Amino acid sequence: MSQHPDSQSTLVRNTGTPRRVLIVGGVAGGASCAARLRRLDEFVEIVVFERGPYASFANCGLPYYVGNVIADERALLVASREMFRTRFNVDVQTETEVTGIDRHACTIMVRDGGTGASRTERYDALVLSPGAAPIRPPLPGVDLPGVFAVRTIPDSRRIRSWITERHATSAVVVGGGFIGLEMVENLLQRELVVTVLEKLPQVMPPLDPEMALPLSEHLIAKGVKLQLGDGLASIEARDGGGLIVVAESGARLPADLVILAIGVRPETTLAKAAGLPLGPRGGIVVDAQMRTADPHIWAVGDAVEVPDVLTGQETVLPLAGPANRQGRVAAEAIAGRATQFRGVQATAVVGVLGLTAASTGASEKGLRRAGIANFEKVYLHPGHHAGYYPGARPIHLKLLFSVPDGRILGAQAVGLEGVEKRIDVIATAIQFRGTVHDLAEAELCYAPQYGAAKDPVNLAGMLAVNVLTGDMPVADWSALARTDAVVLDVREPEEFAAGHVPHAINLPLSQLRARHGELPRERDLWICCVVGQRAYYATRFLAQRGYRVRNLSGGYTTYTALKTSGVVP
Ligand code: FAD
Repeated sequence: MSQHPDSQSTLVRNTGTPRRVLIVGGVAGGASCAARLRRLDEFVEIVVFERGPYASFANCGLPYYVGNVIADERALLVASREMFRTRFNVDVQTETEVTGIDRHACTIMVRDGGTGASRTERYDALVLSPGAAPIRPPLPGVDLPGVFAVRTIPDSRRIRSWITERHATSAVVVGGGFIGLEMVENLLQRELVVTVLEKLPQVMPPLDPEMALPLSEHLIAKGVKLQLGDGLASIEARDGGGLIVVAESGARLPADLVILAIGVRPETTLAKAAGLPLGPRGGIVVDAQMRTADPHIWAVGDAVEVPDVLTGQETVLPLAGPANRQGRVAAEAIAGRATQFRGVQATAVVGVLGLTAASTGASEKGLRRAGIANFEKVYLHPGHHAGYYPGARPIHLKLLFSVPDGRILGAQAVGLEGVEKRIDVIATAIQFRGTVHDLAEAELCYAPQYGAAKDPVNLAGMLAVNVLTGDMPVADWSALARTDAVVLDVREPEEFAAGHVPHAINLPLSQLRARHGELPRERDLWICCVVGQRAYYATRFLAQRGYRVRNLSGGYTTYTALKTSGVVP
């Protein structure tokens, strides 16, 4: 950079004025930008302004601090001001708010939180990483004492004190997304009785409803009350202390504290006031190098819009990984490198009371919303490791892929063990624009306690390849109510008797070779078993004998989830 004669640096140089890079926001995107830039350029002046009391803290750890899983607040402080100064020669100014940007003068207005004094700071490059603001709907009572958002260390500290000092025994968590569910886990950890109020009829909105169902069932089994399909109407103070959350349905939910976790919106106050363009999703518009419409200003993290690599549409994705990577890309761009941000695919994981749900890429509802119709899906429920080794736990997995090229579009998985590992493999394949053939062929770790010779990822790929080649045509469960196909259940009679798809006929796989002549050749046969494996064998057998067959992917296990979650009538 400064010393390198061929540097592509975009900053003013050799003017006698020290080059100054100012960064607004000192946590995920801002801190990673500062640290990377220093590694690339020893001579640039870097100043980070953070309006809160801490820079570079672990917001992702906040729920666990509330739950006392992280007992010492200091563990949340990833890097101190002192470390930034001594290790990186970065000046971090906490409790210092940036209140305005003068783009013509290349200056920002800064207010010192301690003294209240304002001053102007000059920049050659400005990086905005102001994050997102928790949504606080303008409803009666949302500002009452005892109603909290979870965004900062002081927020979590306040929640902890409230629980302890008020001897709180109950809480309502409004919003059943990532942060809401993490708060549920941690409030249970503090032995509170917890109710989740969620406007959608499912928890974890990024998942398709049938994939979110195991989470709901798990929460209920752990004693959490779920009030789904019901929004927040108001919050009232209760006589004698405490609060009452009033739902849109009229339900009144008493609580000693309320957590508002209904999502975040990009923090764009500064950018908007400075006339920087915002996109349709409300985030700051940036190019692939994280540069805004102003050539001297970059923006990263929760505040920006970035392309979804699968749908091609702009999106906002408030997650730590993208924020960190974008901070790094902005630093590289400022230092004159051509690095570009690839876009996002929404790879995420949440753990709730021992159950893990993870997803990457598009969901089925996301594809439909984006108007993408040329896709297919398979469901499977393999063990997380070889069945012969004790302790195998099922992973409920859904894979979405485009037809006919087999490009992987997305995957979701829920289970007790091994879930995030499978989603991470599929996420990586998506990043390399992989196909289901790549998943079928992927060479993955195997020893009995970790996986299987055909790992769940391989199996998902193999099933999808079978769909593409026509070896295993699949039927759409949602068409069940309007089809005149015969549903053939190939489980044993006692399994069939314990529960089956309405109007299904039963002919066990074990008797199929002897009795297939009883099946109607003039009708389509939709074949089902418990998870789809025996149905696949039956599909292959019958197809080779000239029957018109389709597999009901995921079997009765998937049917039950689809039915309970309302996807199948
Ligand atoms: P932030 O990290 O939020 O930093 C923005 C900073 O800018 C803030 O500290 C703010 O005070 C400061 N700021 C704003 N405006 C100004 C101004 N005008 N002047 C000075 N300073 C300003 N993501 C995951 O991937 N996995 C998780 O498990 C996960 N868990 C989370 C749990 C919680 C409770 C929360 C709140 C978030 C979680 N996230 C998680 C999301 C992740 O933390 C964010 O996506 C990430 O921190 C965004 O980085 P950012 O730099 O854009 O914003």
